Amino acid sequence: MNPPANFDLGYDAIAPRITDAADQERWDEACDVLVVGMGIAGVSAALATSETGGGRSVLVIDRFNGGGSSSLSGGVVYAGGGTKVQREAGVDDPTEAMLAYLVEETGGAVSTETLRRFCTTSPEMIEWLEGHGVRFSSKVAPRKASYPTRDGYLYLSGNETVQVYADHIPAAPRGHRVVAAPNLSERFLYRGGASLMMTLIRALRAAPGVREILHCRVDRLVVDKAGRVVGVDVYQIPVGFNAWRHGKLQRISSHIALGDSKLAKWAWRKAASIEKRHARRRTITVRERTILAAGGFMRNRAMVQHHAATYLDATPLGAQGDVGSGIRLGQGVGGVTAYMDSVSAWRFINPPYVWMRGIMISRRGERLTNEEQYGARLGAALFEKAEGRGWLILDSKIVEDGERELKLPETWIFQRMIARAMLKNGKKAVTVADLEKQLEITDGGLQKAVERYNQDIAASAPDEFGKSRDLCAPLLTGPFYAVDVSSDVAGSPILAISLGGLAIDENTGAVLGTDNKPIAGLFAAGRSAVGLCSKSYISGLSLADGIFSGRRAGSFICQ
Ligand SMILES: Cc1cc2nc3c(=O)[nH]c(=O)nc-3n(C[C@H](O)[C@H](O)[C@H](O)COP(=O)(O)OP(=O)(O)OC[C@H]3O[C@@H](n4cnc5c(N)ncnc54)[C@H](O)[C@@H]3O)c2cc1C
Repeated sequence: MNPPANFDLGYDAIAPRITDAADQERWDEACDVLVVGMGIAGVSAALATSETGGGRSVLVIDRFNGGGSSSLSGGVVYAGGGTKVQREAGVDDPTEAMLAYLVEETGGAVSTETLRRFCTTSPEMIEWLEGHGVRFSSKVAPRKASYPTRDGYLYLSGNETVQVYADHIPAAPRGHRVVAAPNLSERFLYRGGASLMMTLIRALRAAPGVREILHCRVDRLVVDKAGRVVGVDVYQIPVGFNAWRHGKLQRISSHIALGDSKLAKWAWRKAASIEKRHARRRTITVRERTILAAGGFMRNRAMVQHHAATYLDATPLGAQGDVGSGIRLGQGVGGVTAYMDSVSAWRFINPPYVWMRGIMISRRGERLTNEEQYGARLGAALFEKAEGRGWLILDSKIVEDGERELKLPETWIFQRMIARAMLKNGKKAVTVADLEKQLEITDGGLQKAVERYNQDIAASAPDEFGKSRDLCAPLLTGPFYAVDVSSDVAGSPILAISLGGLAIDENTGAVLGTDNKPIAGLFAAGRSAVGLCSKSYISGLSLADGIFSGRRAGSFICQ
């Protein structure tokens, strides 16, 4: 039987199959623990079960080759509280400081108790990763950035130095960038995420009691009459040439450099048609627990439209598996969701670092926010206050300083190319008034915004949006530049991931139903679930959450 064609399209719950007598069915596969999805959350869950499950059998399945969005990622893991890497770098980071910052940054997405557990176990998490072969380095990046310089591995990856936090919480670098495996070149692009996943998947393949099935997608959960999840129906492409092509095409279609290009779309159509023609239905019975770790939903336009329409114009970031099937499968058996309108939309303006001295304005000329913040906050300001459209205003001093920074050998080639292209494609004028005309701002909004910014600096008054003093530089020297920071800028669109998911019991990872009670046999982790970053993402917090929540869902200690 061929798989249904509309699997990737809907936003509604995916209904389960109800079995009258699971023990009398003929199943194709059986396991104690089933993990759906082989990204960071799924791999962490499977490894944790192997380590703590007392010989339980684990089956991990993935719709594609495994790795998911986690493989495409920058490989930055948020960790602190005195990790080995921080200690080697001479960084002092008390657990209480990390906790205090995260309580404010994460905005109550999870309880303080859960955050405390995350912070106190953070050093152990890094050791656990290292124990599985993942490598980190204590070389500290010279400055805060959206992504550290080529030679920097430990860096300020969030909003720690922004005044609103820094005035009462000591800042510390907590972004731990994975060192690329020797066989993965970082000449043009980072490979930290690919290295992280390659290493962990290798560890998974050597772990006792773990098996995997690739090119296999879960289409339906199977529940017994009492509502317990007892298995899944899947569609699997048999091992061989078609499965190989399916994996290759998916990889092309998800490649970050290809974005939404014709080639990416062609590759995806081909991969989907291989699934449609060659996947065969199979059934898997699960004796204890099914863990949904199938990623987020940014690639499912119907879900974005339904839950987070403000962000519909953002470009989906992530692998093709990010169609929300894990969330919809959970909903089908009564799982409730939360923070589904929460999206992290990234407008990075740093590097170059000095661009944060400029001001970001709407199409009407109003300044939008503190430019020093992490790119997800800038993206949120653009979408929530300005329909995703805006300009970054710079003067020639900033542009010259920025160019000097871009020329440094430690700047990534892709970041240099993006910043230069954005500048080249922007507008330029001798005076602010002329620039305003070019931008078709009619009521003097830009001039007012620049005047206000400059006056506050001259008067040593606090910045309107709380930008740090050393990043407030008056915009005085023409020519003036307007860099387009809108959602659809060619070559540098605003990229977005979804943050909401299935509500879970924060002690166990069990999926919760409407009565706030766990659904028997069902767990969730990573971006399929509500987690640490469900209200606010900073670099490293999604991978860290995937590891934390995956290990929690897969752990049999004290349960
Ligand atoms: C370019 C980029 C850079 C990023 N950089 C960082 C970073 O440096 N640090 C950070 O913290 N975060 C980063 N993120 C975000 C982060 O990578 C993701 O949020 C995180 O990896 C999600 O992990 P996951 O395990 O939940 O999902 P995934 O890694 O996407 O794994 C889900 C897996 O489930 C599979 N799957 C889906 N549906 C099914 C189904 N029905 N049946 C079977 N299998 C299924 C998919 O094929 C996939 O392999 C980045 C994201 C991108 C795209």
